[in-house]
Amino acid sequence: MVTTHNLGFPRIGRNRELKFALEKYWKGELSEQDLLDTAGALRAQHWQDQTHLDWIPVGDFSLYDHVLDASFMLGNIPERVSALSGSELDNYFRVARGRSVADNSACSCVHAGEMTKWFDTNYHYIVPEFDKNTQFSLNASRLREQIQQAQRVQPQVKPVILGPVSYLWLGKSKDGSDKLELLDDLLSVYAQLLHELKNAGIEWVQIDEPILVMELTEAWKHALRKAYYQLQAAPVNLLLATYFGQLQDNLQLACELPVNGLHLDSIAAKNEVATIIDWLPSHKILSLGVINGRNIWKTDLTATLDWLEPIHARLKDRLWLAPSCSLLHVPVDLNNEQKLAADVHAWLAFAIQKLQEVTVLAKALNQGRDSVSEILQENNAAITSRKQSKRVHQVTVTARVREITDAMGTRQSPYHQRARVQRKKFQLPLFPTTTIGSFPQTQNIRQVRRDFREGQLAEPEYHQAMQKEIALCVREQEALGLDVLVHGEPERNDMVEYFGEQLAGYAFTDYGWVQSYGSRCVKPPIIYGDVAHIQPITTEWIRYAQSLTNKPMKGMLTGPVTMLNWSFVRDDQSRADTCMQLALAIRDEVLALEQAGIAIIQIDEAALREGLPLRKSQWNTYLDWAIRAFRITANGVRDDTQIHTHMCYSEFNDIMTAIAKMDADVITIETSRSNMELLDAFDQFQYPNEIGPGVYDIHSPNIPSVDSIIELMKKAAQRIPAERLWVNPDCGLKTRNWEEVRPALRNMIAASRYLSSHLSTTQVS
Ligand code: GLN
Ligand code: ZN
Repeated sequence: MVTTHNLGFPRIGRNRELKFALEKYWKGELSEQDLLDTAGALRAQHWQDQTHLDWIPVGDFSLYDHVLDASFMLGNIPERVSALSGSELDNYFRVARGRSVADNSACSCVHAGEMTKWFDTNYHYIVPEFDKNTQFSLNASRLREQIQQAQRVQPQVKPVILGPVSYLWLGKSKDGSDKLELLDDLLSVYAQLLHELKNAGIEWVQIDEPILVMELTEAWKHALRKAYYQLQAAPVNLLLATYFGQLQDNLQLACELPVNGLHLDSIAAKNEVATIIDWLPSHKILSLGVINGRNIWKTDLTATLDWLEPIHARLKDRLWLAPSCSLLHVPVDLNNEQKLAADVHAWLAFAIQKLQEVTVLAKALNQGRDSVSEILQENNAAITSRKQSKRVHQVTVTARVREITDAMGTRQSPYHQRARVQRKKFQLPLFPTTTIGSFPQTQNIRQVRRDFREGQLAEPEYHQAMQKEIALCVREQEALGLDVLVHGEPERNDMVEYFGEQLAGYAFTDYGWVQSYGSRCVKPPIIYGDVAHIQPITTEWIRYAQSLTNKPMKGMLTGPVTMLNWSFVRDDQSRADTCMQLALAIRDEVLALEQAGIAIIQIDEAALREGLPLRKSQWNTYLDWAIRAFRITANGVRDDTQIHTHMCYSEFNDIMTAIAKMDADVITIETSRSNMELLDAFDQFQYPNEIGPGVYDIHSPNIPSVDSIIELMKKAAQRIPAERLWVNPDCGLKTRNWEEVRPALRNMIAASRYLSSHLSTTQVS
């Protein structure tokens, strides 16, 4: 018999119950007990939803983040909170977000743990902190309680824990000591944990080592061997889980580690399955992640069965089936969606539906396809409808992509020539000032957008209200004395959704929420078909804004790579192909803006870096098509049109040459938090075009002083000639309020004026 299981279920709830409970609790509007009750009820519901599986997961739920849970279970709690008063939960939230409810009045806030992306997903975890004195001690009481709770729903309960080696890998050594020195101590705590699990009646434990899909040095490979040779004495069966990629040079290692089973993401690593079956010792089970846990498409069940049947014939009872990874990365339940077009709805599967697919596949293998023939037929119909849908395939789009030429992505003249033309045209002062696009999204703006969306406000009134906001924003910027203005983006809820809604090929859900970090969720739009520009999206707003001022008005767009990386994408063509369609669509918008008389256009690529593959050896392939897509979008303009781009991540040293290849006239980036250290990269690499290193950390309510901005810019001017420097904030201002933004920008402009009158270009360059 084939066995079914799940690696992890989304935690937030069908209606984001966890988010709302957490946020209420943090405000002091919900008691700790009520919060824990909500969490308990959600877990119980999720187990109910999974009882059709042979094994249900426990330990996958978290109030904030599962890596932080691991830190607390292993007793690795930063010293800065351990002495503070309050409950364990208080400390948990202090590490997660800097404060707990207990801190609301008498603020004993501490700095929150660092947060970073969980592999190449959009989920963020709290980075474990280590130093050479770190000691671990087991506190598994929460996991034990949850196991008991789960066992009441179903006896076959499989705890999910983060493996010791991945746990170390994901953390950060605070004193530069070698994290691997901590392995021995950590392993003894893991051994203890596995004993406790045995005592709790546990038979199988899923132990996640996702770092097996990364490039590992010998030291880390050795650590994996050491860990699992030691843990093999544990009285439970270990299912070693890898996901998000291929094992490649770690394949043999993964097969040989002395555990009882291996889980493989057979969506990402399908081509390795045959080799793994050859390598895997015959006493081990193989769990295949055959349902994509990171995307929202229905699985082609018949095709999957065609592939699985011979594997099943070979492995028999040793075959387990599951989604490829935890379902944390997909929304909960498609049945919540009422407004999706019927055909698109039929093509999708969220967490609940994906688990049903697992069960159907297992039944087909165990009892023959006839036992599920109706479901297979229905599935077949949906798959065929998607393959043949006119809404998916538009020959004009694919033909246009085929006809893309390098010339389309190349500016008419090189930067230095364009710069001359642009200088003459714009007559900007030295150290010109600008912002990144959005201005405070006030209560009023949100209300107007909501009323319009809900049909309470007619189109003409909405239009008028938005124009009023734009006019206000332009007036503020003129009064402040900024050099290049923006319209302020009042009409945009989200930089991807806004454009997606107006392009062909995109669909939107009502409840398709996915956890990004803590209580923060995102609702990625779905690219289901060929993407095309239908009509100008932004021109009217920008043209209106330009009509109100003699200063240049910067048009504001989201770039193709960011549109791609923040959406659920098609699985029937490569990401590169989809990106090229997006590039053409946004290019049309760029040209429409130019046509409308807009002379400066910013194309945001906030998420460019996020798309980097897990393995460095694959970076260049990604960067090649991503940069090409940007160039196709941006570079069809005249020499006297100035292209800006913006990226809001701090580490870009390692992809600097790729960024330079985009050939934007101006790039604005985040730098102020690192005190311009980021610009160290410019010592090695001469960035050829203009650059605006952010001097105002918009994530903080603090107002930067004139002096601090001057200091930062002087540092920048040591590396980049002054005539190629801009002065601007780190990112958009939409989360700030005007009371903060006005003085901050006033200081920014004063600093720019000081710099242009006190520093001659020769002095600083
Ligand atoms: N133009 C966008 C804004 O200002 C950029 C946002 C971003 O980089 N994340 O809001
Ligand atoms: Zn940004």
